Amino acid sequence: MGVKGKVAWRFMTDKVSKTMFQATYRETQNLLMATSASVEEINVKMQEMGFRVGETLLMDYADRIRDHAATFSEFANTLQLAYKVNSGQEFSSVWVSPDKRTLKFTDDDCPLCAGVIINDMPGLQYCALISGVFDAVMKLRGFNTESYQESCKAVGDATCTWTLNLRA
Ligand SMILES: [Zn+2]
Repeated sequence: MGVKGKVAWRFMTDKVSKTMFQATYRETQNLLMATSASVEEINVKMQEMGFRVGETLLMDYADRIRDHAATFSEFANTLQLAYKVNSGQEFSSVWVSPDKRTLKFTDDDCPLCAGVIINDMPGLQYCALISGVFDAVMKLRGFNTESYQESCKAVGDATCTWTLNLRA
């Protein structure tokens, strides 16, 4: 199916207002901040929400994707495509470690962090939703992985980085 299948999949994706999505995400974060005891708790809750979002996305697209990734490192391309379909933009970089057990994705223009500056919550992983989506995709595809957000623009880092590690 290759390119033809992927292009068809892309055009079948419904669109939603970016402003509405960003505002909804921001208010979700505000609610988590107001109701959580620590930054760690906020991060965990947002990643768990991302997991459930990922389950929905995967179920929605499962029938449309013809070429499933077979190996862990092939998800570098799969997740890039999924990100493009769902956000309208590509990761700035995708890195596969030499041993093919670690994938790192960055976005210098992260749509979740756009316009957000948080100075008083060190360690906050504002866009951990993405890590949770990765968790869901990998688990439902049968891989034992650990996902975490390594850097975040909302708290002052130069880029947002989401890392996936294949466990032993
Ligand atoms: Zn971000």
